[in-house]
Amino acid sequence: MEYKKNDCVTMAIEDIGSNGEGIGKVDGFAFFVKDAVIGDVVEARVMKAKKSYAYAKLMRVITPSPQRAQPECGVHMQCGGCQIQALAYASQLTFKYNKVRNNLLRIGGFSEALLDEVSEPIVGMEYPYRYRNKAQFPFGRNKAGETVTGFYAGRTHAIIPNTDCMLGVEENKEILERILLYMRESGSTPYCEEDGSGLIRHVLIRKGFSSGELMVCLIINGDRLPREDMLVETLCAVKGMTSISVNTNTERTNVIMGARCRTLWGRDAITDTIHMRTPEEIDSGRDTLPGEAAEGITFSISPLSFYQVNPIQTEKLYSLALAYAGLTGEEIVWDLYCGIGTISLFLAKHAKHVYGVEVIEQAIRDARENAGRNGIDNATFYVGKAEEVLPRLYETENIRADVICVDPPRKGCDEACLATMVKMAPQRIVYVSCDSATLARDLKYLCENGYELKRMRAVDMFPGTVHVEVVCCLQRASKADQEIRL
Ligand code: SAH
Repeated sequence: MEYKKNDCVTMAIEDIGSNGEGIGKVDGFAFFVKDAVIGDVVEARVMKAKKSYAYAKLMRVITPSPQRAQPECGVHMQCGGCQIQALAYASQLTFKYNKVRNNLLRIGGFSEALLDEVSEPIVGMEYPYRYRNKAQFPFGRNKAGETVTGFYAGRTHAIIPNTDCMLGVEENKEILERILLYMRESGSTPYCEEDGSGLIRHVLIRKGFSSGELMVCLIINGDRLPREDMLVETLCAVKGMTSISVNTNTERTNVIMGARCRTLWGRDAITDTIHMRTPEEIDSGRDTLPGEAAEGITFSISPLSFYQVNPIQTEKLYSLALAYAGLTGEEIVWDLYCGIGTISLFLAKHAKHVYGVEVIEQAIRDARENAGRNGIDNATFYVGKAEEVLPRLYETENIRADVICVDPPRKGCDEACLATMVKMAPQRIVYVSCDSATLARDLKYLCENGYELKRMRAVDMFPGTVHVEVVCCLQRASKADQEIRL
């Protein structure tokens, strides 16, 4: 059977793809249907047909799946932010657990038996909404020419108007409405991507979950805003407002932030504290965890800093990384891809010395400052690429490590970095990953070079989306074990 555009088909959805789409078959021909849920029977219209499969658009759910949930967001289908909000949360967690497992089986070459032995249950959230501490909303015009803000639709830059994203904090709505009103009253125009005209491009809003502090940074195509006093007056009335700034970005680019920030009101940065969590707290399934009493590290976060977006799950993730590191206070630890030193400083309190490596210079400046702020004097930070800094220091200064922690971006670790890690022969490697495909590739390398996968746990940092974070513990095989393998 050949299909062509606009053909209508009815099918049962039997599987879920890695981007969260439903997959159904008609006589062996596969259809990928966005927003269809495994277990649904749906009617879909073909959008793009290939030889053996087609992409189709969900037209009607004929029989809803028992795994369907009522999404809390009204625009979840149009908006590109979430892919699987219509999937019940327990099923989202199963999907993510299986995604990690399948990558480790297929790409990593690990056996079912080993994965059964080392996998711990995925750490989910109690309430899988309102978890993001950071949002960046674009401004533009609707068909009637009115200024709107919201999120981009999937794969395009059409703005789906929405001031109350359900993943973000409740304060976003009030802040966005105040900014839209200010824009109307001051005559400030939204930026237009097509011709580079207009002034206001995006707004970055951040909230320190434990401090309650709010930051607003308007990203503008210029240096100044009309009536800055009016903007400040309306925004500083929002409860918790701590920092109001503008960031200049006059480039014709998709990159949101420019390099220069100017504070209009309040402080240049907000603070937030990340607490250590006990195994009982991690397993409790609770989101509301004690603040003051728990041991924590306080960070200063400026508009340009990288900071994990889900602070509730970040505490659990970092605490797992700390537990997997197995520190007694005597260890030399390397933290590669360390950002502003979040994991490094977490580990430093329990290690002899921590060395961090990160490619962005400003992040390293922040890391050093954060160490000082928390009275940590046993952490040293290097700027540069992990795959260059580590081999160089290994050759010239004969550095060593008892534990190495890595938390690379989606593309994973460079082989030169992995090779030096193997030469340094730490007892344990803790691998934190936001992409289980590159994680599987890197674990395969490490396990072919003297390490054994001991523990692994996925953490759901991004409910409603298909993304999943994983933390693994690898142990150096004993000499005898290594010889047997050779
Ligand atoms: N561990 C930190 C940051 C993780 S994000 C945290 O949890 O907050 C990954 C970091 O790796 C980013 O800060 C990015 O700037 C950095 N990075 C990307 N490529 C790198 C490379 N080749 N060498 C070192 N750092 C790199």
